[in-house]
Amino acid sequence: MALVVQKFGGTSLGDADRFRVIADHVSRTRRRGNDVVVVVSAMGKTTDDLVRLAAEVSAVQPARELDMLLSAGERVSMSLLVMALAGLGVDAVSYTGSQAGIITDTTHQKARIIEVKGDRLRESLAAGRVPVVAGFQGVSIDRDVTTLGRGGSDTTAVALAVALKADACEIYTDVSGVFSADPRIVPEARRLARLSFEEMLDIAASGGRVLALRSVEFARNHHVPLHVRSSFTWEPGTWVAEEDPSMEQPIVTAVTHDVSEAKVTVTGVPDRPGIAARLFRALADRTVNVDMIVQNMSLRGTTDISFTVPMVDLAASMEVANALAPEIGASEVLADDGIAKVSLVGAGMRTHPGVSATMFESLSDAGINIEMISTSPIRVSCVVRADRVEEAVQVIYRAFDLSAP
Ligand code: ASP
Ligand code: MG
Repeated sequence: MALVVQKFGGTSLGDADRFRVIADHVSRTRRRGNDVVVVVSAMGKTTDDLVRLAAEVSAVQPARELDMLLSAGERVSMSLLVMALAGLGVDAVSYTGSQAGIITDTTHQKARIIEVKGDRLRESLAAGRVPVVAGFQGVSIDRDVTTLGRGGSDTTAVALAVALKADACEIYTDVSGVFSADPRIVPEARRLARLSFEEMLDIAASGGRVLALRSVEFARNHHVPLHVRSSFTWEPGTWVAEEDPSMEQPIVTAVTHDVSEAKVTVTGVPDRPGIAARLFRALADRTVNVDMIVQNMSLRGTTDISFTVPMVDLAASMEVANALAPEIGASEVLADDGIAKVSLVGAGMRTHPGVSATMFESLSDAGINIEMISTSPIRVSCVVRADRVEEAVQVIYRAFDLSAP
């Protein structure tokens, strides 16, 4: 008998009917002879609504209380799904993250999983039940409820698959898999049947919104293959797994874009050891995830440092940079929230020169200015003006003829 973890996102749980549809699918999976552990997200836009509600109530939101609030959305889903399963005669039982034994550090809103105990889940499986676990949450080593960051239910699913040694981890969503570009921008974009963890990591990190980045890291580190698929059409989706060494890797796999970042520039920074260290340590202390960093060559002993951060961290980043600027002798700190990032990802680019040249040429032919560039072994990313990013995705996609079989 196989053990399958099935995770259903908020779009899969939009209304009462959907709970019955999902319960039916879980029940069929069981009838085919599998054990199932279910992980649920909050219904629809519940988490966004709770964030907004908190802001309406008070500008002061103690981190612990915000997590108490946000974790409630997944509780609603888990209990409703168990009711829907009970209606089909399936013996199921719900668990919060804390009851499931998901132990995290104490960083509210961005907690990291330290350990998954999972004893109650194992007991319930042994008793022939379907455990339904609230995603996106755990309990800290200080015994407070924590949340794992937006999109964190994916991470819950992977962590449970690892802890319970599941045979498969299925992530159900409203799209039928991972696409070679956002189909709303590139209508001819195709669904990718198979991706390596490395490619998926770079896609997730560069704006592909299908899977949360941390869940992919977790899956790669623990060798858990993921199957991303639709809970509306139920067709086979995209498998994310170890690179297949017997197959030649495509040079370019996907074009992604991200409009959720902003740029901070610190100008007139003295060019001497220790300056970047202080700036980025101070940002790290505020748990700001810095993405791209560019430092120019120094002219007359000073230089400029630009970096990108998630838009939600822009205010904190400006506070940090402004506080540090006089101390490090910088002249000015500038914020720019009109940027976007376009990226090209593909495992085969490791061994093929000329990929970035073609990408830059396609942007140049369209008259799109590149403001920053960064690369990984299998990704090239450019920061451009946000209002040109969709066009950038289209011209790059066509330059590489990504719809060709
Ligand atoms: N409900 C949470 C969110 O909206 C977690 C998730 O959906 O994975 O971010
Ligand atoms: Mg999600």
